[in-house]
This record gives sequence, structure tokens and C-alpha cells, in this order.
Amino acid sequence: MSDPIDAIPSSIPDLMRFLDVSPTAFHAASEVEQRLSSEGFAVLDEKDAWKMEPRARYLVVRGGSAVVAIVAGTKPVHTSGVRVIGAHTDSPALKLKPNAAGVSGGYVTFGLEVYGGPVLATWVDRDLMIAGRVAVSDDATPMGVGSRLVSIDRPLVFVPGLAIHLDRKVNDEGLRINAQDNLPALYSLDAGDPVDLRAVVSEHLGMEPKRILAWDLFLVDAQHATLAGARDAFIRSGRLDDLAMCHAGLTALLRTCDKATPHARMVVLYDHEEVGSATSRGAVSPLLADVLERLALSGGGGREDYMRAVQRSLFVSADMAHALNPNHASRHDDRHRPLLNGGPVLKVNASMRYATDATGWALFEKACAKADVPVQRYVNRSDIPSGSTIGPIASSRLGMMTLDIGNPMLSMHSIRETAGTRDHELMIRAMTELLSGE
Ligand code: ZN
Repeated sequence: MSDPIDAIPSSIPDLMRFLDVSPTAFHAASEVEQRLSSEGFAVLDEKDAWKMEPRARYLVVRGGSAVVAIVAGTKPVHTSGVRVIGAHTDSPALKLKPNAAGVSGGYVTFGLEVYGGPVLATWVDRDLMIAGRVAVSDDATPMGVGSRLVSIDRPLVFVPGLAIHLDRKVNDEGLRINAQDNLPALYSLDAGDPVDLRAVVSEHLGMEPKRILAWDLFLVDAQHATLAGARDAFIRSGRLDDLAMCHAGLTALLRTCDKATPHARMVVLYDHEEVGSATSRGAVSPLLADVLERLALSGGGGREDYMRAVQRSLFVSADMAHALNPNHASRHDDRHRPLLNGGPVLKVNASMRYATDATGWALFEKACAKADVPVQRYVNRSDIPSGSTIGPIASSRLGMMTLDIGNPMLSMHSIRETAGTRDHELMIRAMTELLSGE
């Protein structure tokens, strides 16, 4: 027997919509901006002077792919600090090269770079769509360059795998992929006419090809999110890492933004986590520090008030976590095996690849106990190096108390990832408590 979808909390169909309309970080940021704007968050332009009022709601977008949502507290930040949920808008993908289109072996193909760390074998023989943004000539903008989101939401290209008859050892040795030679995506048979990526995109956007000047375009899975398993226990989609945590943080903030708290509340969604975060809108950037300092200055304070605010604040880095894969159980520490639908995961690592220390751990357990949310704990096997995320980066840049959490998932960085439907609502409840609790 399977429960109808309406027995599932409304946050799940809403998450699925969010995943489907967010093929790239640019789309995720745009969707978050729209949702916040419709809930009364006023856009702050970083080029302008800011005047922020107590209890008011604000929104900052940097570079089109990172967002900060702010609900100001009733007290100045140097006395009450800020509670921040952080996550990242980007996911592994294949990125189209500048001179992408060419002919090879009778096909028109698009040359690609690998963005982040996808499990490449899972990207082969999949229906891929083109999404991202293009820079367009636009006389209405100060430097004459505007930008447009692109999402051609249908199977347009694919990376062909090799028949097993031509690669007899593929199942024993794994699919070996040379990104230069084996990744170009097939678009069409060569008909002798030159194919220009600009023409493909301009037709979709309904504009003259020559108006398109440049692009940040990616190939991503064309398949939409779906529920799966008995009683719809699983959600399967691309980009659950880390759009699920972007959505959970956003939902938690929106559920509580009417509540007055002495401290400010923020959600910061960074781009470029999958490529090391060292960009103007990644976790290495001063994005959060800039916003927090300006919040301190808005209250009439100075640089010292910002520093005091940092030391009264909490950064909760929310990025997906590894659930036990029963078919590869030996890859997990036998006492730290998070299960899907077993609740949010606290992540620790002795080398501080996760920023959690005992204080952060205790704070998370307390918040979850208050919200009646079970907690699972994760640490890597001692002989497998840990992954990392925005937590240690933000923590070391800001000097702010930080903890790392995330929901359990299978197949991280596969083109098709799997998480538990129950965990999402549990995480939203935990985040709600972290943002708005005493
Ligand atoms: Zn992630």
C-alpha cells in the first residue's frame, strides 16, 4: 500500500518543485529571490547605502547565484548576535566550453568541462538539458551587458556510453571516462551547416543570436524529481546536494519570520561549493561578513559591534550527509551509519573538515530534542579521508561558532541522488528551532 502524496507534508511537493525549477545555481537563487520577495523581503543592492530596521526583512543577491535572506532582530546585533543557516546553490554538472560546438565522427557535439565532482559514469546515457545563464547586450544596463536565465527543459543532448562488446571489462573495472575525449555530448548528425550554441539558445529565448555575448551554461539531468519506494519513502532527483538544504533553510526561515526574536536570523546560500568556494560568491568570500557588518552599522554601531556580534552568533552549515548504502556497508564506520528517514545528521571530523565541536554538537542535540527531532551522527571510516563543506570555510573566515549538519542521502554526486521524504520535514523543524529558539 502506498500513501497518497497528500499524506506527505506539503514541504515535499514544494521541495520537488524547487528542484525542478532550479537546474543551476542561477535558477535556485532566482527562485529563492522570488519566494522571499513575495513574503515581503526587500531587496538590498550592495552598491547602495543600507538602512536596516529592527524586525524588517531583507534580501541580498550577489552575482546572480548567491543569496542572503535577513530577518532583523528586535535588539542590536552586538547584544544578541545572529543565527545563520548556510547551504550551497550549486551542484556537480557538465559545463559547456566557450567554443563548444564542433563536428566529430559525423555528429555535431558540444565540448564540456567537468564542474565539481560528479560521478561521471552516472551521467552517461542520460537525457541532458541545457541550463544556466547568458550575458546579453542590453543598452538599459550601465555597462551594456545584461543577463538572462536559460532552461531548455527537455532532453537535448546526451553522452553516449560504449557497448559492452567494445569494452568487455567495464563491469569489473568500472567505466573509465576521459573528460576531454569521452564526454562531448551529441546534439545532432552533421548536416553540413555550421551549428552555433548561440543559435540554439537564442531560438529558445526568442532573441537575435548576435545579442548573446557569452554564457555560463551547463548540462544537467532532464529528469524531474520523483517520489519512490514503498509508501513514497524516498525522494529521487538530481541536485538534492545541496538544494534540499537550501529549501529546508528557506522554509524554516519563512515559517518563523513573523516571530520577533532579539537576535537576527539569516539564511545564506553560497555558490561554488563544489569547486572550492574561493569566489566572490562562495563561502570564502566576505558575503556573510559584509551583510552582518552592515547590519551592525545600521544599528548605529561600529566595527567593534560587528566583532561582538560575530562572537554572539551561530553558523549552521547544512549540507547533505552520507547515509548507509547497504550494498557497500563496509565503506561506513560500523557505529556511524545514518539511515534514510532516521532524522538529520550531525557531522564531525577530527581534522575539522567539519566544523562541529562538542559545544556545537550539544547545541544541535538540544535544539532537536526541543523540536522532537531524532539526531543521527556521522563520521567517516578512519581510513577514508572526510569530505568537507562550507562550515569549516565560513567558520575560519568569520571566527563564528559553527556546526555541520545535513540530511542523510544515498549516491551523493550521482546524476540521480536519493534522500528520505520524512527527513526533510524533520530538518525544517530542527532548523526552525535553531533559527528562532531561545
Ligand atoms: Zn554539498
